[in-house]
Amino acid sequence: MYRVLITLYEKFGRFSNGREILKKAGCEIIESPYPHPVEEEDLLKIIKEIDAIVTGDDKLTAKVIEAADKLKIIAKYGVGIDRVDIKAATDRGIPITLAPALSNAVADFTFGVMFVLARGICDASALVKNGEWGKSFGFGWGRSFMGVELWQKTLGIIGAGRIGREVIRRAKGFQMKVLAYDIYRDERIAQQLGFEYTSLERVLREADFVSINVPLTDETKNLINEGKLSLMKPSAYLINTARGQVVDEKALYFALKEKKIAGAALDVFTREPLPSDSPWLSLGNVILTPHIAADTKEAAGGMDLICAENIIRVLRGEKPLYAVNLS
Ligand code: NAD
Repeated sequence: MYRVLITLYEKFGRFSNGREILKKAGCEIIESPYPHPVEEEDLLKIIKEIDAIVTGDDKLTAKVIEAADKLKIIAKYGVGIDRVDIKAATDRGIPITLAPALSNAVADFTFGVMFVLARGICDASALVKNGEWGKSFGFGWGRSFMGVELWQKTLGIIGAGRIGREVIRRAKGFQMKVLAYDIYRDERIAQQLGFEYTSLERVLREADFVSINVPLTDETKNLINEGKLSLMKPSAYLINTARGQVVDEKALYFALKEKKIAGAALDVFTREPLPSDSPWLSLGNVILTPHIAADTKEAAGGMDLICAENIIRVLRGEKPLYAVNLS
């Protein structure tokens, strides 16, 4: 019987259906006893007898992959594979597959935080819950909630891939002008969705809202650094649902503290979970969420099906879908 390691928490609705599909296909489910994401030293204790893994953000290093004598597939529950050593897996002939069923979830979330930023919704709610209704009118002694609208503003997309394009589709409903930066340009898609490819610098200079949607790679690490942030308008907002390391977090912290940009919404961080003494916690113009942009029932349902199907395919000796290597 094939043994499939699951590192995701079923109690949070992650991979519940996927577990059932795999059991019906005759697989034995091995639940990780470690907190997610599982680090290298803990994976090393359990990976040896495993035939397939459904992984969230676990640290699948070369050492882990080399120790995984029986491993036949790494099925990513999502799309970000910056914590998987792709070369080590490829050298061992192990396919790494994606489950790209979360683009709508992340795009919806991006729009959600854009509204929250533009209108101060989180702060306003916290204030009212704190019994401070009167202050919300800004009589000179409270804060004003005079916001801005998304309607016909300029949206900057950094990385117009699956998620970036879904954000663009939504932006069109608000008649937003969309400028996108990507190393790979698909003019047909740009025409179809109604956006313009341009330089990173122009995106940052002109956008009212900037959404980061690139994967974390050697090239995108610290892509948004102090110099790049200095190009943004003081009225502009930055949204990062990609990976914390794509932004120089120290530079962003000071840009926000010194009000060089209006605000930011961060769903991802270099260090997750955020430590309780994190400097982000003391900033007013930032929205912080615990890496939840993809967490919808619809995305989870889709990812369950794709991961389970890919594992079954590979264990039967068939080609998987959405493989990033060995294709
Ligand atoms: P994708 O591969 O479809 O799109 C990424 C785009 O970035 C591509 O168009 C690619 O050409 C572009 N790109 C790559 N390197 C670049 C570079 N150096 N400069 C400019 N553009 C570059 O990926 P996706 O499905 O849209 O996901 C994007 C990222 O979002 C993932 O890699 C993941 O890290 C992150 N993500 C986060 C969450 C979350 O819960 N917060 C959920 C899903 C995905």
